Amino acid sequence: MSTNTMTKPTTLSPVQLDQINEAIKTAPESPLNALDLCDRCSKGAKAQFTLPHAENPLRFCGHHTRAYLGALMAAQPVSFWVAAEDLWTVNGVDVPAPDNRRAGDGLTDS
Ligand SMILES: [Zn+2]
Repeated sequence: MSTNTMTKPTTLSPVQLDQINEAIKTAPESPLNALDLCDRCSKGAKAQFTLPHAENPLRFCGHHTRAYLGALMAAQPVSFWVAAEDLWTVNGVDVPAPDNRRAGDGLTDS
């Protein structure tokens, strides 16, 4: 993968956006911990992708997730998890407000 892709906006197909938005809605809990690092730059991982035939999941920081998101989704991951708040710059991704997830005031209407 070229590093040139990092400066371009991530473009995703409607199907890929649906998959990401569904994943954000249905799996809000992170499978990652502080010891899980980005495979590219060793920052804390904010996303995990298990690709077909891959032995180990790929993990990326927010920056590299955004850089590779289109290619990762095109590879049709068996499963994946992304930190929604790291995708707020990606057009079409429904990012929940972080405050709502922490409030716990019992007034949410979901
Ligand atoms: Zn990274």
